[in-house]
Amino acid sequence: MDDAARYGEAVKAAYDAFSKLEGGANASYIPYLASVPAHLVGLTLVFTDGQLFSQGDSDYRFAIESISKVATLALALEQHGPAVIQAKLGADPTGMPFNSVTALELHDDRPQSPLVNAGAMATVSLIKAENAEDRWARIRAMQSSLVGHPVELSDEVNHSEQTTNFHNRAIAWLLYSAGTLYSDPMEACMVYTRQCSTLISCRDLAVFGATLASGGRNPLTGEQVLQAANVPPILAEMTMEGLYETSGDWAYTVGLPGKSGVGGGVVAVMPGKGAIAGFSPPLDPSGNSVRGQRMVAALAQALGWNLYRVPEA
Ligand code: GLN
Repeated sequence: MDDAARYGEAVKAAYDAFSKLEGGANASYIPYLASVPAHLVGLTLVFTDGQLFSQGDSDYRFAIESISKVATLALALEQHGPAVIQAKLGADPTGMPFNSVTALELHDDRPQSPLVNAGAMATVSLIKAENAEDRWARIRAMQSSLVGHPVELSDEVNHSEQTTNFHNRAIAWLLYSAGTLYSDPMEACMVYTRQCSTLISCRDLAVFGATLASGGRNPLTGEQVLQAANVPPILAEMTMEGLYETSGDWAYTVGLPGKSGVGGGVVAVMPGKGAIAGFSPPLDPSGNSVRGQRMVAALAQALGWNLYRVPEA
């Protein structure tokens, strides 16, 4: 069997093993997400040379949700550099749910990470732009470059979120009152909510991850989307907080920087090699796709992808 056939088999094996796994539930606090068919499952592997292998519903377009935080972080790093990002947004896990107010109270209203809701809204507020529309346009352009084609804002998802995001609005005001949010708070919350409401496929998500794996160069379009020097800080943030309060368990069992979203997407990045993306809507209590995590973990293991593994001599 040649390499391509072996990779195709490995993707199929991981998909077959976990695509019917029971358990978890769609996110229900965002009405749209509750309505997405729970049986959808996709798995995609992309190498830094552009080879791509998929199974299942990998072209189905789902809401990017928290995975958008990585794209906005990339843009903020490009504009401000790692030192400012670390000082203003942090690089530590909160150990708490992604929208925790307690986490803020425990840390002097500092978000700790750009990958929790508080830190993500603070990241939006740091983006240099003329106005709210310009800020949104830049964020959307970054998402588009990472996946390799223009991403579409779903009016349906956006409406569903903008009319129910009261908890996030409260977080934005808390940050603002403490001086840790750097624009109008409701504008930051509105743009953040939009950035969560674009649609991507599992295939797009794997390309997004592979762009990070190849030092910021999109393997399909060849575009250098961000500076290679900004990739390690992104992957470090993903390691610390990419799967929220279970990020440590993910590091322990998978050993790769990952990121999940409540739309059911999850991606893991192997620097220099490629990325694996899984998609399926039912989530565990921390907001991570149940099937997605298991498929990605199984495929990473089959490929021998684990940053903490000592290569055999
Ligand atoms: N839009 C969602 C929110 O703000 C994203 C959360 C997530 O994917 N973890 O709650």
